This record gives sequence, C-alpha cells and structure tokens, in this order.
Amino acid sequence: MNDLTWTDTQIRRLKELGVDLENLPACFSTLAERNKIFQKIEKKQVKAGREKLSDFLIQGGKSHIEKLKETLCRILHQQGFIQVFTPTIITKAALAKMTIDEDHPLFHQVYWLTEKQCLRPMLAPNLYSLMVDFSRLNHRPIRFFEMGSCFRKESDGARHNHEFTMLNFVEMGLAKETRIDRLKELAAIIAKAAGLNEFRFESEDSTVYGTTLDVVAGPENIEVASGAMGPHPLDAAWGITDTWTGMGFGIERLLMISQGDTSIGKWGKSLSYLDGIRLSI
Ligand code: ATP
Ligand code: MG
Repeated sequence: MNDLTWTDTQIRRLKELGVDLENLPACFSTLAERNKIFQKIEKKQVKAGREKLSDFLIQGGKSHIEKLKETLCRILHQQGFIQVFTPTIITKAALAKMTIDEDHPLFHQVYWLTEKQCLRPMLAPNLYSLMVDFSRLNHRPIRFFEMGSCFRKESDGARHNHEFTMLNFVEMGLAKETRIDRLKELAAIIAKAAGLNEFRFESEDSTVYGTTLDVVAGPENIEVASGAMGPHPLDAAWGITDTWTGMGFGIERLLMISQGDTSIGKWGKSLSYLDGIRLSI
C-alpha cells in the first residue's frame, strides 16, 4: 500500500495553514504513519500561526495595508495631489455617463441597492464630477486622488475581491505631449513605493477608450493598475475640455504581489485573515 496519500480534508487543512504541499511527502505505507505526520505538521503550524497573530496584536503595529495606504498618500501629497473622499453609493445615471449601461459587461457586476442606486464599482464617475467643478478654476495643473472601497461581483477569486480598495489619481491641465510620460512617471513612483521591483507598462490605442496604459507585475503579469488620458471619448458626456491623465491602482493587488503571494484573499477586507495571518487556527 504505497499509493496512500493525503485525504482531501487534510489537504484543505494544510493549505489553510499555509503549508507548501510540494515540500511534503505525498505517499505513505500506512494510515497510521500518514495521520501521525499530519498531526505533527498541523500542531507545528497552529503553534506558529498563533504566535504570529499574538505578536501582531501585542506589538500594536500597523498592518501591511495600513502602511501601504499611508505611504501612497504621503507620496501623492509630495507630488502636489490633494485627497478627496466621495460617496460609496452612486447613481445609475452617473454610471450611464461612463457608458456603463445594460449592454456593458461591468453593469452586471454592479451591486444594486435600489433601481437607481448602487455601490460604486469604480471611482471614475465621482472623479469626473469633481473634474467638472475643478475645471472652472483658473490655475493648472490640478491634482487630486481618492483611495476607497469599490465593489464588483466577480467570479475569479484568486485575483479579485468583491470589495477592494482603489487608489485613483487625476492630474488635469498638462500639455498634451507630456501626458503619457508624466502618467508613466507617476505610475512608476507608486509601483516602487508599493515595493514592486519589477513591472511593465502595456499600452493600447482604442477608438472607444482612447489610449490606455496598464501596469502589470509579478511572475504571472497581473494587472495592478489601469490608466487613461483626456481628451477622452467620455469627456463630452461630462462637459470636460481640459487635458488630463488618471490611473486606478488596486491596493490589495499591489500588496499581494509585493508579498510574493499568488492569491489576493488574505490581503483584502476579511474575517478569515488579519494582516495576511489566518484567524481560524
Ligand atoms: P481585471 O481585468 O484584472 O479584472 P479590470 O481591468 O477590470 O481588472 P479596472 O477597472 O481597470 O480593473 O480597475 C483598476 C484596478 O483595480 C485593476 O488594475 C486592479 O488592480 C484593481 N481591481 C479591479 N477589480 C478588482 C477586484 N475585483 N479585486 C481587487 N482588485 C481589483
Ligand atoms: Mg483594467
């Protein structure tokens, strides 16, 4: 009997405890041998996990996400951006102005509260609204950013949370020819501050969305941010005539990649994890 291996329940528990299954024996000669090894590993992991959680609580330190948010706010303030806080509940009309209506795939990922109100799936509609107000002022450039929760119904859990934290900055009134370089410069400042040593830009020219600039990082080239520039096809619906650049980063994605993790779950808002540490141990 040497094809005896872990049970599904044991595998689930080992994964839950953060054990790398590749470094474990996979075949056993007897049930007793297998169960003994399992219990030994489980005991060791539970002890280590509890110590980690205790240390975190006792030291009263800051979590990775808290530190990352603070760092990014500080960096953006240094670059002359002011922080704005806008409502999490937005209207169907605001989404429609972003062309997100029944025909748009994102429309079906939206959490609707009433027929006309939803939890925002992105910060862009509110930031567009502020752009309209700021554009009445005389000075340029105008720089602002928001960091806050967005909500989307998602099916792929490894890289998506239903509630996640978006950081979106906007810079208005730059010379047209400098926009893309400045957008790349700011994206690089943020990516480096978030601890991404390597990242790539992916740019696309689309007749519908104009020029887009994504930031991808990690061994699996995961998207951590998407940027756009104005004049943009959506500007007319809002009455915007300024030039602008803007980019939205997923804070939990940044954290997941900077921590060398391949799944996002433990870095988002959670009752199962605290600062990446499993709670049910
Ligand atoms: P993806 O194709 O990876 O689902 P997206 O292109 O739909 O992402 P955007 O609308 O461009 O996402 O949002 C900007 C950023 O917000 C993304 O680059 C990503 O970092 C983050 N993001 C988007 N959706 C989620 C989610 N459900 N969970 C965590 N982060 C997300
Ligand atoms: Mg994107």
